[in-house]
Amino acid sequence: MPFTPLHMGPGLLFKALSQGSFSLMVFGWAQILMDIQPLLVMAGGGGQLHGFSHTLIGASLIGGAAIISGKYLGQLGLRLLGLGSACPIRWTVAVTSGLLGSYSHVLLDALMHADVELFFPLSDARPLLGLVSYGRLELFCGLTGALGALAYLTVIKRRHRQLKPPLC
Ligand SMILES: [Zn+2]
Repeated sequence: MPFTPLHMGPGLLFKALSQGSFSLMVFGWAQILMDIQPLLVMAGGGGQLHGFSHTLIGASLIGGAAIISGKYLGQLGLRLLGLGSACPIRWTVAVTSGLLGSYSHVLLDALMHADVELFFPLSDARPLLGLVSYGRLELFCGLTGALGALAYLTVIKRRHRQLKPPLC
């Protein structure tokens, strides 16, 4: 996908459904890390637009980096927001969120980008390419984002009314 924000749609829905068992920060961090390589290529760095970062091996490595760095960066961000002690990011949450982030990213991109080689270096097969049109994929990301945001805001509002601690 050309821009990371589209990948956040499914992330918002995961967050609404999983609430404290999912970190939107770690998931979003994984999206950013996944698209650094294409960004460098577009900036004139040369190479394949969706190269090694957009393979299952690359997504696994980037997911791992997102888990470790995202847990600590996310906790730093939460501490700066004054939520650090109320919302620690558990390792299980970081692992789930980082891997969901990197794998959902590469799978969505494999549906639409002809240069995504999921199984590199074993195969250059592209079994997902063209299964869904670009328009439907954007619609899916937009709708999951809207539904997720609505559900998440509803949960936050309900918790606030019930005087429960903030949702992390
Ligand atoms: Zn991408």
